Amino acid sequence: MTTRTSDTLSPNTPSPNTPGPGALNLDALNFDPQTGLIPVVTQDARSGAVLMQAYADRAAVERTLDTREATYYSRSRREQWVKGATSGHTQQVVDVQADCDADSLLYRVVQTGPACHTGAYSCYHQPLMPAQAPQAGLDGTLERVFATITERLATLPENSYVARLHAGGLDRVLKKISEESGEVLLAAKNHDRAELATEVADLLFHTLFAMAEVGVSPADVAAVLHEREGKTGLKGPKEAG
Ligand SMILES: [Zn+2]
Repeated sequence: MTTRTSDTLSPNTPSPNTPGPGALNLDALNFDPQTGLIPVVTQDARSGAVLMQAYADRAAVERTLDTREATYYSRSRREQWVKGATSGHTQQVVDVQADCDADSLLYRVVQTGPACHTGAYSCYHQPLMPAQAPQAGLDGTLERVFATITERLATLPENSYVARLHAGGLDRVLKKISEESGEVLLAAKNHDRAELATEVADLLFHTLFAMAEVGVSPADVAAVLHEREGKTGLKGPKEAG
């Protein structure tokens, strides 16, 4: 066992102002001594995508915590800046975390519209290298598809299938899920492997769409599955109730 060393990152002594065990207060944050700023990485709480990176001063962090509106400090304009104040593309803050040495913050937000001033969903859309081929199996694929659906729902590009589904309304998509389920059953019954893979892909896609519309993430589903994992007699949804 290692001896616990005292450092500035230890959780502060609980006081009426600290949100709970393990929580930091503003005094524990390491703002840059020269500029008084701390870098902020902003993440889409629904898709997990990184949306942007900016800076905040102490007042901006305070305002973010008080109002749950993502607030930053513009280094070029030298003033506080509330995301979406002029564009309407606001960020509702779900939570704020400091990193291990408290010199960087993560805002997790529900983004309205595109995060980037260019109209892109995320500021990070300029690849420097080709993306690696997707992994084998489903690992990560559902998350990537879900992130794309979330992006399309935020930006509603013309000619986008997701935008078309959204315009048609949730009920029509739910009917589609029911139809796709029937096609999965049929393909399995016929032992048609190619058809079954295609129909399961259709079913998963439309299910992910419904999840995005309702605000359930793949992580939420994974949490339920992991909770059931390793329990004797894996329960199906029917018996689980
Ligand atoms: Zn941008």
